[in-house]
Amino acid sequence: MNCRFNEWDIEEYLIYDTEKDCPVSSTAELMLGAGRLSCGNDVFCREGTVQAGLLAQSISKGEATTDDLELLREVIEIVHANADCEMARSAAKQALWLLDEYPDVWEQHVTRKLCPMLACKALYTVHADPAKCTGCGACTAVCPQGAIRGGEGLIHIIDNDKCDRCGACIAVCPESAIIKAGSVKPKTPDEPVPAGTFEGGGRRKRRGRA
Ligand code: SF4
Ligand code: SF4
Repeated sequence: MNCRFNEWDIEEYLIYDTEKDCPVSSTAELMLGAGRLSCGNDVFCREGTVQAGLLAQSISKGEATTDDLELLREVIEIVHANADCEMARSAAKQALWLLDEYPDVWEQHVTRKLCPMLACKALYTVHADPAKCTGCGACTAVCPQGAIRGGEGLIHIIDNDKCDRCGACIAVCPESAIIKAGSVKPKTPDEPVPAGTFEGGGRRKRRGRA
């Protein structure tokens, strides 16, 4: 099998948006992406990339320990130093940069199970902000998991056990009311209530005459 390095759009991985990209999930995608395109001739490219990608993926899911983080660095350094393949070396070089540049972010994923970028799907939740939701229903119409409850004019509620973080609701909400949350969750009603009436949200119920 021939090397498929030319098919690999490395630029896609090298452009790193510090505002929204997460070094952990980026490393997982980068290493697993290289592993998928490996021709298999070089063991560091064939197996080292995948091993590193799976380790980064477990960190991204909040399932890893500090030992796993150390092991990840070791695997990436081995790939970087030993791979015959340019694709594997390039991926490892970028991954090492992500490890060195954002040590605190890696640490938070491992020790606090938090993704400060709110990019790792297992480490954030999604909520309709009761202060902004007008009950238009656009989100329920696009949710593939049936994870959103509500009704016309009601504040909608997202069941995060059903939600797979596809982001479709965030994209369609005309009020930009759907937000991601890490350790601090917004206060939301237990059941759908008329928009604008939830006292715990930002928008207060009107009292008396307008
Ligand atoms: S799309 Fe936005 S405003 Fe409309 S019901 Fe859903 S959360 Fe509320
Ligand atoms: S992120 Fe996707 S699955 Fe989750 S509530 Fe929104 S549309 Fe549904």
